[in-house]
Amino acid sequence: MKNKSIIAKKFMAVILTIAFSISLFVIPTFSIEAKAANKNVVVVIDPGHGGTGDRNLGAQYNGLSEKELTLQLANILKAELEKYEGITVYQTRTTDVIMSLEDRAKFAQNVNADFVFSIHFNASSEHLFYGSEVWTSTFGSYYQKGYNFGQIVSAEWNGLGLYQKGVKTRIGSSGNDYYGIIRQCVARNMPCVILEHAYIDNGNDVSLVKTNSFINKLAQSDATAIAKYYGLKSKTLGTDYSGFTYKSVKKPNGKLYQDETGPDQCDIKVLGYDVASGNVLVELTAVDKQSPVIYFSYSYDGGKTFCPLQMWDRTKPTQSFNVKVPSGTTNPTIVVKSYNNYEKDSTSAPVTVNASFVY
Ligand SMILES: [Zn+2]
Repeated sequence: MKNKSIIAKKFMAVILTIAFSISLFVIPTFSIEAKAANKNVVVVIDPGHGGTGDRNLGAQYNGLSEKELTLQLANILKAELEKYEGITVYQTRTTDVIMSLEDRAKFAQNVNADFVFSIHFNASSEHLFYGSEVWTSTFGSYYQKGYNFGQIVSAEWNGLGLYQKGVKTRIGSSGNDYYGIIRQCVARNMPCVILEHAYIDNGNDVSLVKTNSFINKLAQSDATAIAKYYGLKSKTLGTDYSGFTYKSVKKPNGKLYQDETGPDQCDIKVLGYDVASGNVLVELTAVDKQSPVIYFSYSYDGGKTFCPLQMWDRTKPTQSFNVKVPSGTTNPTIVVKSYNNYEKDSTSAPVTVNASFVY
């Protein structure tokens, strides 16, 4: 569908950026890790995937190769972090080789890593989603550290124009962390985050990723986030994050479970229909108690086809937007889907509009 409003989208992006910045920085902040910054920190950068064979390539779309992007980013990130004092940086792989997740965690354990940062790029089977997300452990201090770092890096990525999906956890059928690199690191007493920088199968992110030196900017963002998290200084760069503070999340008691269901509420009201312009003004209320609603999508043909995912202002449960109906459509039927940050959706009841709905 070609009916999304670019102006509305840009406006929404500005609102979201403001809301996001406020949520991160206006609340009183304090820092845990920064206090430990007097000791030398050891970090491991883990470029995801590598080698040959389908399973080792990672996502492959639009001429972009995940295993190559992760290595490219990791190499720049390591060099950038080494410009700071008080940090030692290791990298699990520096060439295009196969390396098991267990071997990556063992490598990190052998160098006494304080934190493992696993570098990835994303894709979804539906190719619908876009933005950045961070995965971390569901357990205690591993969750706390992963979440705190995730919030910091998310703010950096937001500054590059990437939509932020948030920090998430996932438990596998064994009752442990679902993602192997996180599970293997936690088993060896090391916090770990999977940094899914952007989707390489969705035009929204691909247009950014393909921009000149964007991988370089992502690496710089990751380096800044790590430096902020540990309160590092760099004489070379002339930066000092020793005073940087952040609001820490509480250590959870017990496991945190992933959201398996769509938003609890996804209700629409048609506020008006301007037959001449084809604009249907729709008000959507989307609420999810477990995880934030982050996207919505609409249909004017009763749910047969939907527009690309739109950004949802997660600071308020109700907002309105125009659905542009092509001329010649009689009695359009509006259906809206809302999605939470676990990509689970709920669908509204259909509302058929006719010319008696006027502004
Ligand atoms: Zn990956």
